[in-house]
Amino acid sequence: MDFNRLSMVYLNGNFIEKNKASISVMDRGFLFGDGVYEVIPVYQGKLFRLTAHLKRLQNSLDAIKIPNPYSNSEWLNILNQLLGHSQSPNQSLYLQITRGSDTQRRHNFQALTPTVYIESSPLTQKTKQVLEKGFSAIIQPDIRWSRCDIKATSLLANVLYSQNAKENQVEEIILHRNDIITEGATSNVFMIKNGSLFTHPTGTHILSGITRDLALESALACKLPVNESAFSIDGLLGADEVWISSSTREIMPITQIDNQTINHAKVGTYWECVYNHYQQLKND
Ligand code: PLP
Repeated sequence: MDFNRLSMVYLNGNFIEKNKASISVMDRGFLFGDGVYEVIPVYQGKLFRLTAHLKRLQNSLDAIKIPNPYSNSEWLNILNQLLGHSQSPNQSLYLQITRGSDTQRRHNFQALTPTVYIESSPLTQKTKQVLEKGFSAIIQPDIRWSRCDIKATSLLANVLYSQNAKENQVEEIILHRNDIITEGATSNVFMIKNGSLFTHPTGTHILSGITRDLALESALACKLPVNESAFSIDGLLGADEVWISSSTREIMPITQIDNQTINHAKVGTYWECVYNHYQQLKND
């Protein structure tokens, strides 16, 4: 296997081997987590929902006042070039833009040249048979800041959640603010009760997931009415079905939360329908 080809990354205009890529210690991404990112899935070599991802990237950049270094067509060109170096057809592209390097460490900023880093890694998806077994989650207080709509690289809370998930051997940490379920540590959260789907409305307390939109689209295609309205911990625990969604995990069924089972630990029929619909969307 040609490992060099597998480890090509993009850094500030150059395609280079990952182990040769480096940035300045004065980079504000390194010093402050002063940057934003995106994760874009690629199926059969095709970027999935690129326009929506680039729009969200623009929103994140605008929110923290970093100028977008590229136009959409320049992004497309760079991403496709990087994909040309990858071998498997399904990939997960990680794009990071930081404010750039300053001459001294200070919290405030001036106009700098943003640092752009992109890497691509193979995207392996769970089979339907594996997904049908269901996954577990635990609920914890949402300790993140109040601008969760920005896909910021400062992810300390999420790092701690992820470690917690690993230590508790669960798929996801589901977060609540004052008893209201917001989202997962790395996903959006949905619940079904009495034939209707509920998910927290977009705003500053959740990341507006691209997969969230696709899950809502799939729900409607499955004749499942959609309510973008908040629900409580008790609401979640009493749900008929619970799902989480993200670009790399798609739509996953959660059948156990905090040692309580959802739908007697069985994956629901609506999940089955949205799963099938989502797979079709990927082929469009
Ligand atoms: N919410 C959070 C906190 C996330 O980190 C993510 C993805 O990483 C999502 C939601 C889902 O977003 P998307 O569907 O665009 O991947």
